[in-house]
Amino acid sequence: MGYDGAVPANRALARSLNIPAVRMLSDYGLHRFHRELQLLGISGVSQPAEHYGLTLVLGGCEGSLFDIASVYASMARTVNLYAPVLGEIDANIQNNFFKLNYLANKKPMQSKQAPVMSAAACAFTLDALVEVERPETEVAWSFFTSDEKIAWKTGTSFGFRDGWAIGVTPKFVVAVWTGNANGEGRPNLTGLKASAPILFDVFNFLPNAEQWFSKPKNQVTTAKICSESGFLASVYCDHTVTKEIPETGLQSRSCPYHKIIHLNKKETNRISDKCSKTYEMVSKSWFVLPPAMEWYYKSKNAAYKELPPFAKGCEPDDDQIPEMEIIYPYKMSNIFIPKELSGEKGKVVFEIAHRKPETTVYWYVDQDYIGSTQRYHRIMCTPSVGNHVLTLTDQFGNRLERKFKVSY
Ligand SMILES: [Zn+2]
Repeated sequence: MGYDGAVPANRALARSLNIPAVRMLSDYGLHRFHRELQLLGISGVSQPAEHYGLTLVLGGCEGSLFDIASVYASMARTVNLYAPVLGEIDANIQNNFFKLNYLANKKPMQSKQAPVMSAAACAFTLDALVEVERPETEVAWSFFTSDEKIAWKTGTSFGFRDGWAIGVTPKFVVAVWTGNANGEGRPNLTGLKASAPILFDVFNFLPNAEQWFSKPKNQVTTAKICSESGFLASVYCDHTVTKEIPETGLQSRSCPYHKIIHLNKKETNRISDKCSKTYEMVSKSWFVLPPAMEWYYKSKNAAYKELPPFAKGCEPDDDQIPEMEIIYPYKMSNIFIPKELSGEKGKVVFEIAHRKPETTVYWYVDQDYIGSTQRYHRIMCTPSVGNHVLTLTDQFGNRLERKFKVSY
């Protein structure tokens, strides 16, 4: 029922947050992911990628208990068997599930495929799944007692028809399905409430693994990380930690959120070259999130310090740090607006975030003024079919534009 603005990837995974997953898939590529799910043996992925769209990452396709357990087992096996092979992961290690799959479904073996997931990716993912903070109730899961470290995840199908829980240790994979044989939904039939207690009971019966997964040394390196953003530290990040990361992480971009800003001596106002001569200037590194992320993030993170406003008369003509950001419509979006039950044209809600919400923002679709907003920058409108440009200006002259298309 809310947004956090920015969340570390491992927490996003443990909390099963939808939006980070959808955005990551959008960046990563739908077709690539679709192909990889098939390679990993999820037999329910039988339709083309477009059929599922971005829901694919949220469970928009079907997978059997056997399929899913096989993938978790593959991840564990990839990490377990990595060390003895000294850096070379044999595709067969990860793709062993194909043998199992073959026995179960009489499907052809495809053991020549390269492994889909690196050993480092598997190890870091399994680590993230130990840090559990489950979405439904935090109280419920803390009742599950196990003196063993377990990576686990739950899932609930649409309409509460069945609940899932899968747990992994270096020794065992346990997968639990709970549901009604006739497919009827029940309100409390969730992975967390129905399946997870059984999962933990089963693990309590099984012998413990002596130790947790060890990190595949040749694929892991250490790097300086920005403590605030979690990106590789840039020269502007003033708080850093040295952390183990998968080697491929070195190719990721460095922290885009720490920026150098120029302040007056009291550090109460930003200044620019328009008036800097009249001030003694202090240059400082500042943690600045994009406006939309900031809007949600600051409500959850009291330590977040908003950018100080520009000194009067010192607003630069071209501020490098944007004051507002469009949340909806998305870039180049094609909006389908269904007709209301009454037969009238439906409405669409546009939304933006402004760093200083009390600012007045003026909204235009093409040349037509449609209204102004303050504090909550949302507006309803009924654009006609075809291509449009949404234009926003605020009382300080900041301006944004976005193209979109409407169909009914
Ligand atoms: Zn940083």
